This record gives sequence, structure tokens and C-alpha cells, in this order.
Amino acid sequence: MERTFAIIKPDAVERNVTGKVLAMIEAGGFKIVGMKKILLSRAQAEGFYYVHKERPFFGDLCTFMSRGPVIALVLEKENAIADWRGLMGATNPANAEAGTIRKELGVSIEENTVHGSDSPESASYEIPYFFNQLELV
Ligand code: GDP
Ligand code: MG
Repeated sequence: MERTFAIIKPDAVERNVTGKVLAMIEAGGFKIVGMKKILLSRAQAEGFYYVHKERPFFGDLCTFMSRGPVIALVLEKENAIADWRGLMGATNPANAEAGTIRKELGVSIEENTVHGSDSPESASYEIPYFFNQLELV
């Protein structure tokens, strides 16, 4: 079994589609082992996305991610990291395949509804950034 970290981003919470995303997660065979709704501060968003700090969109991304509540999730499944990336779809919803969350629900390359760890190393940073051991069941 493998664990990955996911976020339902502010655009989805604002549009009341968190339930649709959770339904797609469960239909995809993932177990939700951690879940909480939180409002990130700007500094907390910057810390989460520090790997992107040199990218031109970093400022906009951190403003977006702290503008409203998000749902933070830890998902468990065999091959969870790659399978969750697959269910999310391409970063730009316009390029995402049919049936993926970003294709069905994404708004733009920035407001793309969900986050997912891209490697075991990033999952190891991102899961404890949001959850302690007692919160994962
Ligand atoms: P991901 O792993 O598919 O989420 O994509 P990245 O790690 O490359 O980028 C992180 C997040 O930054 C994306 O999910 C988008 O929300 C945002 N993002 C990525 N590329 C762009 C871009 O070119 N412009 C803007 N405004 N946001 C972007
Ligand atoms: Mg990424």
C-alpha cells in the first residue's frame, strides 16, 4: 500500500464540487485515511509550494491557494501516487483526458481543482506538512 497527498483546491470548494471530487476518489479505489478542511495563510501556501518559488506563477499560485478553504487529504491505494496523478489529469484542464477530475471540473491551468504529490519524496514532505500520525487512520 502507498499513500499520497491530495488537495481539493479553493476553486472547487467555492463551486460546491468537493462531494463530486470525493466521489471520484472513492470510485477510483482510494481509501481516504486523512481529511480536513483548512484555510491556508499566504505563508503556509508558500511553504507548501516552496519547490515552485522560482517559477513565474508562484505569486499567483500562492494567492489562489490561500484565498479560501481547501480540503487536505491523504489517500491510500496500491500505486497511489501515480494512480492519483492519473485520475487528476494533466495540469492544464484543456489538455486533460476525458474522465479525469481536471477535465470534468477544472477551470484553468491555475484553477485546476486538485493537487497531487508527484513522487514519494514530495509525498513525504507534503503529508506531514498537513497531518500528524494520529490524524491518519
Ligand atoms: P501539477 O503537479 O500538475 O499540479 O502542476 P505543477 O506542479 O507544475 O504546478 C503546481 C500548480 O501551479 C498547478 O497545479 C497549477 O495550479 C499552477 N500552475 C502550473 N502551471 C501554471 C501556469 O503556467 N500558470 C499559472 N497561473 N499557474 C500554473
Ligand atoms: Mg506538482
